Amino acid sequence: MRAPLLESSKRRKKIRLRIAIILLVTLIPTFLTGFIIGKSYAANEKNFKNELTDKVKPAISQGKEQSGVNKASLKISDAKANKDTKENSTNEKDVPVNKGEDKTEVGTEPEKEKEDLGKVVYLTFDDGPSNLTDQFLDILQAHDIKATFFMQGTNLQKEHLQESVIRTTREGHYIGGHSMTHKFNTLYEDYQFIPEMTETLQLIHDITGTNPTLVRPPYGSAPGLNSEQIRNQIVDAGIKVWDWTIDSNDWKLKDNPTQIIEAIKNGTNSDREVVLMHEKPQTLAALPGIIQFYKEQGYKFVVYDEENHFYLNFQNDIRM
Ligand SMILES: [Zn+2]
Repeated sequence: MRAPLLESSKRRKKIRLRIAIILLVTLIPTFLTGFIIGKSYAANEKNFKNELTDKVKPAISQGKEQSGVNKASLKISDAKANKDTKENSTNEKDVPVNKGEDKTEVGTEPEKEKEDLGKVVYLTFDDGPSNLTDQFLDILQAHDIKATFFMQGTNLQKEHLQESVIRTTREGHYIGGHSMTHKFNTLYEDYQFIPEMTETLQLIHDITGTNPTLVRPPYGSAPGLNSEQIRNQIVDAGIKVWDWTIDSNDWKLKDNPTQIIEAIKNGTNSDREVVLMHEKPQTLAALPGIIQFYKEQGYKFVVYDEENHFYLNFQNDIRM
């Protein structure tokens, strides 16, 4: 009676062992497949997010300092993607999603292409209109470049120059105000800055039909606009004030276009430059060289846009 019992117990053990083996054989591949798919999906997603971070850069509107860092960028551990926080600040939903098709590896994007999209230069010309305005416009037109002009009231009043003023606007350039008298004492010590700028902007409107809001203070906003009270009045008047990032010193480099180009080359060190120049013969002579330099450096030429205003004044007053 003992032998059959032993037999039956052995058989049950064998059956349990077989069931265990069958379970293992079926479950292990299932787990492995799931694990591999999961890993590969995670890797794809990571690449996709890194690509987004590189591609959103040009979508960032010029000049708007953005402090928000989006969710996707926070998850990216790639040091390259995080090296520039500006690159990480665009809303994910604004980027076209092409997850399936886009197989570009991170880091294979040509360096030049990035430069082309990221660097911008604003060429600005003060003190016009002048009898050289048309020649400036000819050079800009030949290169299909838009620029920003700050014109002076007493010159705007000269009727023989007004056709050039109209042409400036017609060809897509921006004209802002540069005061009526250009006199330091009158503007800043006799408090004529706002009335003079208002009159200049009105003159530009009368000639071109535009409604400009941007002005450039003669001699710059410092020290002229040190008074907060005057700046409050400028803000109340809806006037925006632009200084510059590079002073070409062109006005004092008479007959020396080469040195103007050198001054600009030496001053260029940022992805967004605003170059101060004047409607002078030596500047006209230097202009093709200046354009060539920025093209070689991968800069895009842009014109002031009220919709995308950013503050640029030596007073660091973010309101104007
Ligand atoms: Zn000036």
